[in-house]
Amino acid sequence: VKENLVNSKGRSINLPHGRLSLPLFMPDATFGVVRSVGFDDLVRCGIQAVVMNAFHLMQRPGSSIIETMGGLHSFSSWSRPIVTDSGGFQAYSLIRQNSKFGSLTNKGIVFRPGGSSHKFVLTPEKSIQLQLSYGSDVAICLDDCTHVNEPFESQQESVIRTVEWARRCKVEFEQRIKQRHSSKKRRPLLFAVVQGGGSYDLRRECARSLCEIGFDGYAYGGYPLDSEGNLLADLIKFTRQLIPHEFPMIALGVGEPSNVLKCSRIGYDLFDSSMPTRDARQGRLYRFGHDFSGRVEASKKLYSYLYVKDEKHSRSKEPISPRCDCLTCSNYPLTYLHHLFKIGDALYLRLATIHNLRFMVLLTQRMREDMDEER
Ligand SMILES: [Zn+2]
Repeated sequence: VKENLVNSKGRSINLPHGRLSLPLFMPDATFGVVRSVGFDDLVRCGIQAVVMNAFHLMQRPGSSIIETMGGLHSFSSWSRPIVTDSGGFQAYSLIRQNSKFGSLTNKGIVFRPGGSSHKFVLTPEKSIQLQLSYGSDVAICLDDCTHVNEPFESQQESVIRTVEWARRCKVEFEQRIKQRHSSKKRRPLLFAVVQGGGSYDLRRECARSLCEIGFDGYAYGGYPLDSEGNLLADLIKFTRQLIPHEFPMIALGVGEPSNVLKCSRIGYDLFDSSMPTRDARQGRLYRFGHDFSGRVEASKKLYSYLYVKDEKHSRSKEPISPRCDCLTCSNYPLTYLHHLFKIGDALYLRLATIHNLRFMVLLTQRMREDMDEER
């Protein structure tokens, strides 16, 4: 990765299904779909890659179905890169909140969906096997995620486990890649997740151990916002500085446009979040501000939120954002979108999602242009 991360065209990574120009926002296609849009819509929006979830997909539709289809690309008809998340965050959000949904040991994670007797076992080895059989372009090591406010002892336990699991993931990954006969095909990449909660010492310790094992890239792990919803900017910046700049780094779960911009400024390359698409479905749309034409800086009014259900939009002939070139803004006035939202039509979901994703694409494009100028 090191050799081809930075070239004359800026930062990028080369993957089996294409090259990604960085920085880059990736929408979540957790179950193999970005809700309410087709992959042709995503291509037209300029989306370069999506994030799918190995843990959710092993339950529905089930790994054997995806493997029968020859992987996620042919299953979903998406031909561009796919990053697969391992399920570490799901273990955190399900099991750490309620032990009836499973258990966490050094061996791996046992999930009991809905608290039922039916169980799924996810070990680091199994997670890598799944992600590789799905045809992932970037696999992510299974990790033990914590909340930033948990006590030091549980953060320490999480770091020890995360490092040990990453080591096992790397061994499994290398073995599987070696077994593949086609050496012509570009190999997928393996990223590891830096945990450590709110402890700077543990973050440093985790990053150091992971860098010693050696991965193609790294991720900021743990929920990136504090209890008031503010970005944990200092901690996120500190964690980025622990990883050499020549390695790409994902800010997992960062998706609010201003936070994407802030994290990009401190060296993060990739962002994944369900926020822009969820906002779209719930009626919160992103409108470009006047300052968007200049350099993009977090301090400026780059965008504002537009709430589609507001009565003031019921007679507006304007598009969502006059500066946007998406399918929705090129064809539909706000009054129509307001109407579709009010009657709960599925077309609203598609048109709104297309717009918010195009906004994210244009935002990251502008960020790349700014970086080009700086170089
Ligand atoms: Zn638009």
